[in-house]
Amino acid sequence: EIGVSGIGKDFGNFTALDDISLTIGRGEFLTLLGPSGSGKTTFLMLLAGFEEATRGTMTLDGRDMTDVPAEKRGFGMVFQGYALFPHMTVEQNIAFPLKVQKRGAAEIKARVSEIVEMVGLGGHARKRPDALSGGQQQRVALARALACEPPVLLLDEPFSALDKNLRGQMQDEVRRLHRETGTTFVFVTHDQSEALALSSRVAIFEQGKLQQIAPPREIYERPENRFVAEFLGDIN
Ligand code: ATP
Repeated sequence: EIGVSGIGKDFGNFTALDDISLTIGRGEFLTLLGPSGSGKTTFLMLLAGFEEATRGTMTLDGRDMTDVPAEKRGFGMVFQGYALFPHMTVEQNIAFPLKVQKRGAAEIKARVSEIVEMVGLGGHARKRPDALSGGQQQRVALARALACEPPVLLLDEPFSALDKNLRGQMQDEVRRLHRETGTTFVFVTHDQSEALALSSRVAIFEQGKLQQIAPPREIYERPENRFVAEFLGDIN
């Protein structure tokens, strides 16, 4: 469980996040929605430990993690420009974080073949990224992020570059991986239908403030304020 309490982030005299408090349950699928510039990516960066909060505290399973550096948090990340290592094969890409963690060779081999199967890349393990389609590359990025069995997986618009059809397939994939791994997923998207389809809860951000956090149905049926109602209404 992640606890976020009174978190704020300033860049100079600009407040990107203001007094965010929420709890993310273990195994939850939380989606962050909101207009461009509302602070979604900044919030993900704070969770990851890539940015330091200006105010507030964060806990993981009850332990303070506010000042724990990113590498010690060990959260998995998948971002838009998934940046696979171009000179490495699929299996080398996936093995990379395990090697960084100095896991034994036999363990790495077993884990890589398990995860390659899990993301449906069975026939492609020896290929380099440039020999794969966009969707397959995205699967490698997911596999690499999940290789170390992170307690939390952070995804920032991972499918925005994919065409609609592939996007649908990747949503199914993510839903299945979430179910199979039991990992906590925190997902940023602009796509409301994506949020609705995938999430156990949705958090709506506006100008650095959390406007509402609730299961998708509740957000749609009972928006807590005018911003949320109009934001959802606008795009539908
Ligand atoms: P988008 O949907 O467009 O990705 P977002 O909701 O993820 O937007 P953020 O990227 O979190 O928004 O940005 C929130 C605000 O903080 C923006 O106004 C942005 O310009 C500002 N910001 C983000 N990072 C920095 C930084 N390193 N320095 C200064 N300002 C920043």
